[in-house]
Amino acid sequence: MKDKLSEALSVPVPKKRAGARCTCGAYWQGECGCSGVDWTDPELVDLRSEVAGLKRDMESLQEDIVALGDENDDLLAEIDRRDKLEGLSEWWGQVHINGSFTVNRYYNDGDLYKARENGSAKAIYGPFRALHEPMALVIIQEMYQRDNSINN
Ligand SMILES: [Zn+2]
Repeated sequence: MKDKLSEALSVPVPKKRAGARCTCGAYWQGECGCSGVDWTDPELVDLRSEVAGLKRDMESLQEDIVALGDENDDLLAEIDRRDKLEGLSEWWGQVHINGSFTVNRYYNDGDLYKARENGSAKAIYGPFRALHEPMALVIIQEMYQRDNSINN
């Protein structure tokens, strides 16, 4: 059975990390007579190395962000295009026997059906998307021209 003293002596003395190369037995920098001994707190050394590692990670992430930038621009352009498309309203129109064009907002096929039934239209188009009435008129005129040039 070990006595208290030998038990105490068997406990390993914690290794002194700060000032590890000190040979004069000092406990802190102020006592140390050795030259060139680093008394920097090891915890601080670890933190500094951790900070350096985080800085490298951050720089690498910034490079990734720059690389993703172009991809992101394409995505934003696509979202913008869709938003504009959704901002367009739906129209339908007819080319009358007398050659005039009229356009109306489209709500359902009922109006197109009625126009077909009363026989006053040479051609009926829709629904198609336009920003406003003048744009709808241009679109229906172009569709009519296109169809006629195909028929000729
Ligand atoms: Zn020393």
